[in-house]
Amino acid sequence: MPRRLWLPFVIAVTVGACAQPTPEQNIVNDAAAALGGRGRIEAVRTLVIEGEGINGNLGQDMTPEATSQTFKVTAYRRVVDVAAGRARLEQTRVPAFAYFQGPAPQKQVQGIDGEVGYNVAPNGNATRVSNAIARDRRVELYHHPITIVRAALDPASTLANPRTFEKETSVDVTTANGFGLTLAIDNQTKLPTRVVSMTDNANLGDVAIETSFGDYQDVNGLKLPAHFTTTTDKYRTAEIRVTKQSIDGDTGDLAAPASAASAAPVTGPPPATVTAEEVAKGVWFLAGQSHHSVLVEFADHLTLIEAPQNDTRTLAVIAKARELRSGKPLTHVVNTHHHFDHSGGIRAAVSEGLTVITQKANAAFYQDAVGRSHAIVPDALAKNPKPLKVETVDEELVLKDGAMTVNLYRIAGSGHADTLLMAYFPRERLLVEADVYSPAAALQPYAANLVENVTKHTLKVDRVVPIHGAIAPYADLLKAVQVKTSN
Ligand SMILES: [Zn+2]
Repeated sequence: MPRRLWLPFVIAVTVGACAQPTPEQNIVNDAAAALGGRGRIEAVRTLVIEGEGINGNLGQDMTPEATSQTFKVTAYRRVVDVAAGRARLEQTRVPAFAYFQGPAPQKQVQGIDGEVGYNVAPNGNATRVSNAIARDRRVELYHHPITIVRAALDPASTLANPRTFEKETSVDVTTANGFGLTLAIDNQTKLPTRVVSMTDNANLGDVAIETSFGDYQDVNGLKLPAHFTTTTDKYRTAEIRVTKQSIDGDTGDLAAPASAASAAPVTGPPPATVTAEEVAKGVWFLAGQSHHSVLVEFADHLTLIEAPQNDTRTLAVIAKARELRSGKPLTHVVNTHHHFDHSGGIRAAVSEGLTVITQKANAAFYQDAVGRSHAIVPDALAKNPKPLKVETVDEELVLKDGAMTVNLYRIAGSGHADTLLMAYFPRERLLVEADVYSPAAALQPYAANLVENVTKHTLKVDRVVPIHGAIAPYADLLKAVQVKTSN
């Protein structure tokens, strides 16, 4: 009889100590049950997902707010080795707009194998991506109902902050390997509705990457979504409809290619190389890598055209400008357009006290950009906060003093962006522009429109000083347009 009294006591203690699930665990347990059960989820080895859909054009659309430009995605195939932390995405993208690389389909291969992220070019060459991109891909492994719930069930993960809002209940998950994500489930079906994680974006700062799930279907005893929508901040970057998917199907070899696996980790952008070439009196071409700038000397101050890419590039360009003309303050930067690679240094320029001159459709975007949190990867402006000083250009603005005249014009009707400015130097007969004519580029889809704009304003141009490529005679631009129109 003592034995009968003793046993229930032990059971009661056990139940009280750890078998009573917390509210956080209840959310995960409910999700696991709705998906097909904990045992089934923990037994999953691989996911093979095929489909089609669209990609967005983050940071490269017609205006900062626009999300109308899309790539049609075909032959989408994402394979995930759940236990090994490996995945590979293969897809073909066709631009559904006038893309600067032309209308040809682009095949993309992007993989993650442990800490090594890699891309494989169409010619088969694999390159290692930056640690930041690799980290995003490691986190992306959990942007699927099976992988996030499996990770949340792991006793080594931690769960926190259960809450219900409208039709969803959410819980924050810190995975065993230290990644933070939020899992949301539907209050009625208990199926996962979305997964959210945070990352750094050079332009937007701390951003949420969210993948939402819909159209659940039965696959091998599990419920799997057949519709994925992914956003970065408020911008849709991908929407995929699944045409075929399987559990534990053949993934092929998911090991990183040897050339990527043996490459040194890429911890940040390459060091900046800034060359300076005096194009005319008081005008310097600051080149050296992919994105150039132009320094302009006025009577009592200096103005830069373009703060591109990132802090590294833009701070180096600013330093070079100050070195070239140390006696005059650098006070302004002209921004050619809002595209992220051309505005990635705007925050750095603001941190250096520069006033931003931009097309008026960009003003609200830069106001927002300068106020955004960059706590995940603090940039120059996060370390040295300053308010935005901005001057906007509608169709035209003349920058003029006794030493220098620069006319800024909006490039109207371009298929590249609605926020483009070009800079014309009437005395030097120079034209500075970005992206609408890049000398020596194989395709020039926006060049004819550039010529129209030059003609409309009756500009007398001898040389084009491009933000991409080498300085070229204006005749080369006319030739590029001739070639294009004669085809
Ligand atoms: Zn652009």
